[in-house]
Amino acid sequence: MSNSPIYKNYIDGVFVDNGNYFDDISPIDGSLVARVSEADKSLVDQAVLAAKNAMNGKWGKMSVAERCDMLDRVAAEIERRFDDFVAAEIADTGKAHAQVKNIDIPRGGANFRFFANLAREQGEKSWQMDTPDGLGATNKILSKPIGVVAVISPWNLPLLLMTWKVAPALAAGNAVIVKPSEETPGTATLLAEVMDAVGMPKGVFNLVHGFGPGSAGEFMVTHPHVDAVTFTGESKTGTAIMKNAADGLKPVSFELGGKNAAIVFKDADFDKAVSGTIRSAFANCGQVCLCSERVYVEREIFDEFVSALKEKAEALKIGRPEDNADMGPLISVGHREKVLSYFKLAIEEGANVVTGGEVPHFGDDRDQGAFINPTIWTGLSDDARCMNEEIFGPVCHIMPFDHEDEVIHKANDTDYGLAAAIWTTDLEKAERVARQMEVGICWVNDWFLRDLRTPFGGVKLSGIGREGGIHSLEFYSEPLTICMKH
Ligand code: NAD
Repeated sequence: MSNSPIYKNYIDGVFVDNGNYFDDISPIDGSLVARVSEADKSLVDQAVLAAKNAMNGKWGKMSVAERCDMLDRVAAEIERRFDDFVAAEIADTGKAHAQVKNIDIPRGGANFRFFANLAREQGEKSWQMDTPDGLGATNKILSKPIGVVAVISPWNLPLLLMTWKVAPALAAGNAVIVKPSEETPGTATLLAEVMDAVGMPKGVFNLVHGFGPGSAGEFMVTHPHVDAVTFTGESKTGTAIMKNAADGLKPVSFELGGKNAAIVFKDADFDKAVSGTIRSAFANCGQVCLCSERVYVEREIFDEFVSALKEKAEALKIGRPEDNADMGPLISVGHREKVLSYFKLAIEEGANVVTGGEVPHFGDDRDQGAFINPTIWTGLSDDARCMNEEIFGPVCHIMPFDHEDEVIHKANDTDYGLAAAIWTTDLEKAERVARQMEVGICWVNDWFLRDLRTPFGGVKLSGIGREGGIHSLEFYSEPLTICMKH
């Protein structure tokens, strides 16, 4: 225990350890990854004050070009410390090496470069207008930072999703208080080291560790000097945050849960649809907000599709990050309990278990981890809880359909509205169906493909607002109109 590192808070350019710790546990074998210094209310107060002062200091006076050059240096330092970031993300999440090396960490760095470039390209708009005296007026629209932004992020793609908020917030000139998930404090702590190393002015990036209710998360959201809250996580957490943010009328940007549909038509390229659905159901052990938990397959190919998906799911290799495994563990034993409770409920609700449904036994230290088998169900009814509640594990239900209108109705018949995937070779039909999806993003013949310039987010319980490209910069900015009479 004494050898495990201590992850500290980073406030006003100083690493702070207040002596009050919680444990960061490996989901691979239950071992201790680190002890984490939990920020109390007074540390959160200090972080907010530091951020406020930064806005009034050197950072607030920097030109866009200087600011963006600083963000490029952050990206370069993440790239220089690539292996440290990979190790920290793997220690916290147990994800496969390949995923962390190819997606999580590169995207973490890329977010800073992308938003630096985008901010450099922005100009000021202006409109000339006529006036009765014939002299006219000019309206100039400025973009000003909102001020102090609270960033609260989840554990499933820790660095990627946190920097997806931090990078545009800083590019737009704000100062941030960041709280990573209590499950994944590692890469956020490294990011604080990066900020320190590149000479980010103190108070611009503050890191506080802790939990939600009664802890750092709630202290941030309720703080009177926090000007906006950007959050990714569960829908019910979004509700709690929104209530707490209501008192100060703080703007919120929410990326929340999903219960996403995949629709496979009989004219789909069968092999692509099967391997695409394997990815969309089981990537990151099913812990991606965009994962397909409801798969609808046209009746003529239903049996063949279920058998093919079963075969591929059973061939997925579960194991340690260095094993080149297809699937690592869930994030924690606690989360596995939640997923297993749905496995039990599904049977009570009449599911036929096509494959999976249990915990694998390895006969080694992985039995202390949070592994679970990929699981496929058929036979549930539309109103089953397992068809309506987000499970967030490696599990999908497959249901047959007969008509296009029927499957559109089923796909949309949910409280969530994040993503959908359509598999067909008939592109006219693909476009017709995609246009009717009540989601923020609909893929045709693919899944998870992202152009960072496009709006990303959800409708209904899946979120408020959009992130990506200019949509992010708009959330983190306040327009100011200057109307000048000639
Ligand atoms: P979560 O809501 O449990 O926690 C997310 C963060 O919120 C954590 O940092 C947590 O400490 C904090 N938090 C919890 N309660 C809080 C409160 N009352 N006030 C302030 N902060 C609070 O989510 P999670 O389990 O970490 O992540 C999984 C969820 O995130 C899933 O529902 C998933 O769909 C969703 N998600 C959505 C997107 C998206 O882009 N839409 C992306 C990734 C994950």
